[in-house]
Amino acid sequence: MEQTKLKRTKRNGWMNLTGLLLMLILLTACAGKDAVQPVTLDPEPDASQEMDDASDQNDGENHFDEREAAAEVPHEESNEETAEEPHAETDKNIEPAIRYYMTENYLIRPLDEHEDRKVALITFDDGPKDRDMVESLLDTLDKHEAKAIFFVNGYRVEQNPDLLVLIHERGHAIGNHSWDHVQLKDLSPAEIDQQIESVQNVVKELTGEAPRFFRPPFGASNDYVRQKAREENMLYMTWSNGSEDWLKENQSADKVIARVMEQLHPGSNILMHELPWTVEALDRLLEQIREQGYRFVDPHAIRTEPEASIPSR
Ligand SMILES: [Zn+2]
Repeated sequence: MEQTKLKRTKRNGWMNLTGLLLMLILLTACAGKDAVQPVTLDPEPDASQEMDDASDQNDGENHFDEREAAAEVPHEESNEETAEEPHAETDKNIEPAIRYYMTENYLIRPLDEHEDRKVALITFDDGPKDRDMVESLLDTLDKHEAKAIFFVNGYRVEQNPDLLVLIHERGHAIGNHSWDHVQLKDLSPAEIDQQIESVQNVVKELTGEAPRFFRPPFGASNDYVRQKAREENMLYMTWSNGSEDWLKENQSADKVIARVMEQLHPGSNILMHELPWTVEALDRLLEQIREQGYRFVDPHAIRTEPEASIPSR
């Protein structure tokens, strides 16, 4: 965070300095061309106005002199300018502050009621399966500065532990999607415990953190499953915007984009899968979502505490 700020300040400083040098070169060049006029470093009044605008309008005066400008290049004000930008969300080493909660319909809402509700949560289920697909998803998410939840199955994690670690290290959240991708409501409590706990354990072993989000396979569950997810400190969810990218008729990038965009609404909890056409669609899809004025929710900024503590709005 500090480093980013410093870099920016430096960059601003260099840009100012470059501007000054350019100005001086121009002035000198102009003066040099016309040998009759004496060489002067005092710029024209309108030129100094320009300079002032470029250097943060430090004092509102139009005068300009070389010495003063040089002293002001790394000006304090450029620090203040960047200080209020929220860097935390883009820095994977710093947990962002809790800014969102989930409604009972699995929509994501800002805790601050004055904040814009046009937000979307991106999620991918059923992986991690394939390195090329996972890496492409991660690169595209980075490109759009988006963080997602990857709801994983334990048997996939067992096959691709390195991919799970990669997803975690790239700053995304891991969700629990049961070990075997089974209909949990058909199982006994002991079997449900096993399906859920085993994923908590393997993810914790590999990443150091147990999942904080749970989504049942097929969105199907019962009270016991919900209670078990809660006991494991997970926020239970299904989705509010299903891409249906697994359906035969939707197996193209254009179809996936169309399905998600036609259902897009403030707080959208978007369900997608690690599938080739979804991987292909993601860049254009995220672009279109942003063009509609939406921001992407960082899952780490979603409150995962029990529903009782969620404000009713
Ligand atoms: Zn699934």
